[in-house]
Amino acid sequence: MMLDTTTLRVSFGMVALTLLVLFYFVAYRSSRSAYCGWWCVALGLFLGGSVAYLFDGTSQQVWTNPLGSTLLVAGASSVWAGTRALRMLTFSWPWFLAAPVVTAVAAAIDDPADNTWAGGAVFLALMSFMVGLASRELWLVRPSPTDLLRREATFSPSVRVLSVLSGGFSVFYAARTIVFVAVGPDAVAFDRYLGSEVTTLVTTVLLAAVSFGMTSLSYERETEELRTRATRDGLTGLLNRTEFMRQAAAEWRSKHRSGAHGSLILADLDFFKTVNDTYGHPAGDYALQTFAATCRGIVRSSDLVGRYGGEEFIIFLPNLPAERAEQIARSISERLRATATPNGMAFPTVSYGIASASADSDLIDAIDRADRALYEAKSLGRDRVILSDDGRPAT
Ligand code: GH3
Ligand code: MG
Ligand code: MG
Repeated sequence: MMLDTTTLRVSFGMVALTLLVLFYFVAYRSSRSAYCGWWCVALGLFLGGSVAYLFDGTSQQVWTNPLGSTLLVAGASSVWAGTRALRMLTFSWPWFLAAPVVTAVAAAIDDPADNTWAGGAVFLALMSFMVGLASRELWLVRPSPTDLLRREATFSPSVRVLSVLSGGFSVFYAARTIVFVAVGPDAVAFDRYLGSEVTTLVTTVLLAAVSFGMTSLSYERETEELRTRATRDGLTGLLNRTEFMRQAAAEWRSKHRSGAHGSLILADLDFFKTVNDTYGHPAGDYALQTFAATCRGIVRSSDLVGRYGGEEFIIFLPNLPAERAEQIARSISERLRATATPNGMAFPTVSYGIASASADSDLIDAIDRADRALYEAKSLGRDRVILSDDGRPAT
């Protein structure tokens, strides 16, 4: 190799420092997420490790060399901890600390004053192992429940890229371990292809790539959370009114073109104020959540369910005639009756107004008709379904 290790390590240190500062201010400060925090820690440890190695060949080597290896392995442990955080999982400190402690001991008893590869095999193997664990965690990341609620949910490409990058790095260190053990650090096969120069170059590139991947992942997640907050009702997880209207209008337009029909249901919980007054506001919240979950469990995934107001809900069923919508409303009430409630609370009954969504009407008009049917259901005694189009009491 034409490049010398010291120069490469200095430039690696500069790159790591730059990435640390940029990543801290750009990604971590805005997201404050645990995995970004761990990546900052890892960058700091990699930086510290490479600085410690700069003292190889000086009188300080006896302690700086083991320290360098220990910091780098601690960096790999931090990467692993960060990937655990990404999966919302905790990690155990003994596992976290085991790799750096073992590395420190192995280096300390392997003549670190004269041997720049003190504890080399253990160091290389543990780097491969910890980064390998991190890669595995990344591979196991699944879309979050809110991703799954969105029909157009896609899997984050950043996570896959990060998993493959770290997997490659782990394999690289595994190869270094094997060749190191087989032929030793001075053999050409190790020094030329898997030695410090090549590794420092590879690591520099990797650090930049991973930092970029982590930044875009952090933005992806933040955008996702904002999107969820902007489109979903916080209590029930259903579409909020604005988003329901937006999606229903889009669906309506496409149905209008194809001439297909559908139905619209407005549902209002009966005497809901009494539930709050009798059992307390949290019990009322629980009833709203139960109603929402029951609706979602009964309609198709392509149907739209929204929270229209306090205890009022709206459902759009494309391609379903009003008679089928009526059956669905009945099934919801039936299932609610069969649902166990805590503290002997009686689940409120529900009134429904249904309007058919014909190609020659518009969404606002259908909501208006469903609302009038709902009003009628209330005045006829509640706990019933009324179809708007013929005004026929359906119960
Ligand atoms: P009706 O059968 O005529 O619909 O009677 P009602 O009591 O259900 O209707 P009303 O409009 O008088 O009361 C609605 C109640 O819903 C009043 C309000 O405090 C309650 N409410 C609205 N939003 C929430 C919420 O998010 N949580 C809880 N616990 N209660 C809510
Ligand atoms: Mg009500
Ligand atoms: Mg109401």
